[in-house]
Amino acid sequence: MSGVGASAGDSSMRPGVAILGSTGSIGTTALRVLARQRDRFRVVALTAHANAALLAEQEAAWSPAFVGLVTGTGGRDAWARGTDALVEAATRDDVDVVINAVVGAAGLDATLASLEAGKRVALANKESLVVAGELVAEAAARGGGEIVPVDSEHSAILQCLGDHAPSDVRRLVITASGGPFRTWDAARLAGATVADALNHPTWSMGKKITVDSATLANKALEVIEAHFLFGVPYDRIEVVVHPQSIVHSMVEFIDGSVVAQLGVPSMELPVLYALTHPERVVDSGVPRFDPVQASPLTFEPVRHDAFPALGFGIAAGRAGGAAPAVFNAANETAVALFLEGRMTFGQIATRIGEALDALGGMVGGDRIALLAADAAARTFVRERA
Ligand code: NDP
Ligand code: MG
Repeated sequence: MSGVGASAGDSSMRPGVAILGSTGSIGTTALRVLARQRDRFRVVALTAHANAALLAEQEAAWSPAFVGLVTGTGGRDAWARGTDALVEAATRDDVDVVINAVVGAAGLDATLASLEAGKRVALANKESLVVAGELVAEAAARGGGEIVPVDSEHSAILQCLGDHAPSDVRRLVITASGGPFRTWDAARLAGATVADALNHPTWSMGKKITVDSATLANKALEVIEAHFLFGVPYDRIEVVVHPQSIVHSMVEFIDGSVVAQLGVPSMELPVLYALTHPERVVDSGVPRFDPVQASPLTFEPVRHDAFPALGFGIAAGRAGGAAPAVFNAANETAVALFLEGRMTFGQIATRIGEALDALGGMVGGDRIALLAADAAARTFVRERA
């Protein structure tokens, strides 16, 4: 569905947008971007998990045709309720683009259903691809839908790749800020608190991904995401630490040329680009880049010994089958327990490693098998809190 944003000026043709997770960090960023693109897009559906108050404010501002609240009370009687609300919103006839900004494996069914229904999915919910990359690809092939990544690194890679085939690519280089603990030694890391982990140096995001950025589990999710999005094997995907978060990622081509995409650390551009790809539209609200102000740009290797979650996740990706689903579910559960004060920072990676040892060999394949692996990993980690 190239050029979904092509119809500026003709309001009857404006593509309809559903935002799943509209009350979150990416969801609210998306609404900020869409507020400047009202002549190009219509917001037709919004969903949240439990934040009825913010959802009601958004409804008042946007008058979408559909509003869904998964759990919790409040809001209007007309709102859809329950987990089905996500799929319902995503598959509506008046929806052309689904911004999946739900956090966690809870976003999977909506990604699958959107693609089956032939929609463009502006995908922030990387967990969908990690849990079920093959199923997501099959759903897109069957239904004619397409994924355009919102994740800044993958948006960068998409922009660097242009029309090149995977066979032209020697290497994807995914940048990582290194998170708040980039320079911390092992002893200091052992005592890292929730407040420390939530103190991200360059990005302002939801709590789960902020903790993932501190453990570097987020980079493992992103390596797996890149593998499925771009069809590049794991041994040609590398991670480099870049503390300024200006170079969002790079592609090295077979002739040795390296193409990078740069910009200030803001999700507004990746969200906008996911809506308009392959076109570019004017948006005076996206923060401008000043190379002098951004300098110096530095790069350093990942400290794998200090951040073992990254290696666990990449190994899970390479192993395939249910292993990535186990990695993701163990991580989601451990992060939730850490945020509740029931697990130390170091235990997040330890429990992920243990869960993969115990359950990583579970069979993958269909959705039922992957969800069984997901559930088993959640139970495994919860029992060891
Ligand atoms: P937030 O926690 O800020 O927002 C999550 C959104 O999803 C909220 O609207 C929340 O509703 C809703 N939600 C949470 N749980 C469920 C559920 N079980 N079912 C349905 N809806 C649910 O997360 P972020 O916006 O930070 O992240 C969203 C996704 O985007 C993640 O996959 C993340 O990895 C990815 N991403 C985020 C980036 C960022 O800058 N934030 C950058 C790159 C990727 P409620 O508010 O009611 O709880
Ligand atoms: Mg990212």
